[in-house]
Amino acid sequence: MPDMPLDTTTTETILIIEDDAGFAELMSASLAEAGHGCHCFTRGDTAFGWLASNSVSLIILDYSLPDMTGAAFVDRMRKIGLSIPFVMVTGRDDALLAVEMMKTGACDFLIKDTTFLDRLPAVISRALHEVGTRRKLEKAEICLRLSEARLARAQKIARMGSWEWNIVSGEIYWSDELYNIFGLKPGEPREISMEWIYSVVSPLDLPAFKKAMLNSVKTGQPLNINYRIISKDYGEIVVSSQGEVECDESGRACLLSGTTLDITARIRAESEIQQLINYDTLTGLPNRSLLHDRLHLAIAQAAREKHLLGVLILDLDRFKGINDALGHRAGDKLLKLVANRLGACVRETDTLARLGGDEFVAILVGVSHAEGITKVAKKILTIVSEPVYIEGHEIYSTCSIGIAVYPMDGEDSHTLLKHADLAMYQAKEQDRNNFQFFSRDMNIKVLERMMLENSMRKALEREEFFLVYQPQVDSRSGRITGMEALLRWQHPDLGLLSPDKFIYLAEENNFIIPLGEWVLRTACRQNKAWQNQGLPSVRVAVNLSAKQFGQYHLDQVIASTLMETGLEPEYLELEITESTIMKDAEQNTVILQKLKDMGVSLAIDDFGTGYSSLSYLKHFPISRLKIDRSFVRDITTNTDDAAIAEIIIDIARSLKLNVIAEGVETRAQMQFLSFNNCVEMQGYLFSRPVRAEEFAKQLKNGLKY
Ligand code: C2E
Ligand code: MG
Ligand code: MG
Repeated sequence: MPDMPLDTTTTETILIIEDDAGFAELMSASLAEAGHGCHCFTRGDTAFGWLASNSVSLIILDYSLPDMTGAAFVDRMRKIGLSIPFVMVTGRDDALLAVEMMKTGACDFLIKDTTFLDRLPAVISRALHEVGTRRKLEKAEICLRLSEARLARAQKIARMGSWEWNIVSGEIYWSDELYNIFGLKPGEPREISMEWIYSVVSPLDLPAFKKAMLNSVKTGQPLNINYRIISKDYGEIVVSSQGEVECDESGRACLLSGTTLDITARIRAESEIQQLINYDTLTGLPNRSLLHDRLHLAIAQAAREKHLLGVLILDLDRFKGINDALGHRAGDKLLKLVANRLGACVRETDTLARLGGDEFVAILVGVSHAEGITKVAKKILTIVSEPVYIEGHEIYSTCSIGIAVYPMDGEDSHTLLKHADLAMYQAKEQDRNNFQFFSRDMNIKVLERMMLENSMRKALEREEFFLVYQPQVDSRSGRITGMEALLRWQHPDLGLLSPDKFIYLAEENNFIIPLGEWVLRTACRQNKAWQNQGLPSVRVAVNLSAKQFGQYHLDQVIASTLMETGLEPEYLELEITESTIMKDAEQNTVILQKLKDMGVSLAIDDFGTGYSSLSYLKHFPISRLKIDRSFVRDITTNTDDAAIAEIIIDIARSLKLNVIAEGVETRAQMQFLSFNNCVEMQGYLFSRPVRAEEFAKQLKNGLKY
């Protein structure tokens, strides 16, 4: 319990421990005048009791207390971890004691003489001031240490170290993290010197490193260099150093300081990305994209050196059969083996690439006459036809090779590859296992068709097909009511192909069946995904070709696609041309009815171009007519077209069908159509067919037209 009440008017609280209660009171009064509040105790242990739950700024401690000496008090304070500054007071004029007390950490020492009470306030003020200063210093030190620790942590996370090089004295400072990056412990080696640094920089990069340092020192320009170092622990690592130069008054560089970043992981990732972009993962050979670059360079070089260039495309014969019979793993092994064998047939300066699937390309450079190319082609035929052993099977494979020669067969990479490809098809025609040089006499039309047909089959698995979407719009409100999914093919050599370039072929060779299913699935999945993203729910129209329509299981295919993708049937519309329906009208009505019962809607595409029998039309379970764009085109100038459009709109109304006009490109066309009560429209006026990402934006933000 305090012996005296606390003075609460001041912020600094002082504890007086003095066995003479009267004297303590005098001290307290004298300090109160100077603005300090005091607590007084006559014994050491009661003071400790109080200190257990209170805090003070300063203690005035009498050396001789009834229960302990001042020294013992200080000692006990230390032991329990209290570090309160104190001023020692004693009745004796003892210089030795004074020194001893100062040694234990006393701020000051006061003798109880006649002037004691007069001097006390000044001594205490000074002591408090010192205490304040010391506290601030301690706080600043803590802050500094914290910020150093933070910097070190940041450097550690970033794998970045900092350094300073005093150019005048040669002294070098390194942060702990820099030691870490170099695979060293801080302080090992004890002194970092330039010579030592030169000894760990990779010899391959040392000249450039020295040059960069020297340049910065000489010119005062910032340092910026990537180089490899040989680390004891981590082997070769790549670092990037950035530095700034400081100059003295005479303008001479005196300090170079900066940071060094470990970029090994980044460099590795970059080279992995390069590898992925440019090389085929299965065989490690350059892929199509790198092949084009190399071919480009090789052509330039051949032009400069007036040499020939051989471009060989080779395709394994019946590879698909091997793949199907023995499985993909065996197929992959065969491709790797073939890649190795081909490597043995060409020179190091030649390029060997894999185009994908079972197609390879060899670029033979520095050729002086065609016989050189023939020789290589023969060698390839021989070496590929030697049997291979895979998973216990003896496999005989052969290949067909097509050859185009620069400059006779083409002067750019595109033409050379295309002509080599045509020649390869010729080789396939000639009983396979042979090579053919391109010749202008080849039946290019037939070969081109074969080429397209063949690459179409591969295009699905190579993911070269994609869908674009064109909005269907309510022209009164501008709202998007639906979209038509339209197929595109990004052909690796021929570029972007629109459906009229290949759909007919797909229909002829039945490829339209898997392709059409892919379109259906992709469109439904995409529409569902947009709905899941919270975009407005609209229907997607998918075009069906006659071949698909004749397919016995069409209704089942559609049902299972809807099930698989989770799209509600009301959001799918199928577009069928007039002629498709009319082909087998009776049979088709049954299928159409099944689809309609499922909840899927049906539109007749290109309406007006076929020969619809109106009586049948009445019986078909369809919901929409699409006015063909050939009528829309001249609707405002050609009275016949205008009349046909009006009739179609009338027919639709009388049969209670919806009607939509396609190919609307101008405002005038739009106005004519809406004047004649055709509300729904599709065409470039509103938007061209766009990629999925772009269409999502249109769905979200609406259209401007
Ligand atoms: P379609 O079903 O009549 O499709 C409309 C065509 O008109 C699309 O050509 C579209 O890009 C084009 N178009 C749209 N607005 C305008 C316009 O304002 N002006 C003009 N001049 N043209 C416009 P696309 O995409 O080249 O398709 C051509 C045809 O290919 C389609 O005619 C369709 O019959 C067929 N097709 C497209 N995708 C598929 C598919 O996935 N499967 C099947 N079987 N056929 C498809
Ligand atoms: Mg269509
Ligand atoms: Mg159409």
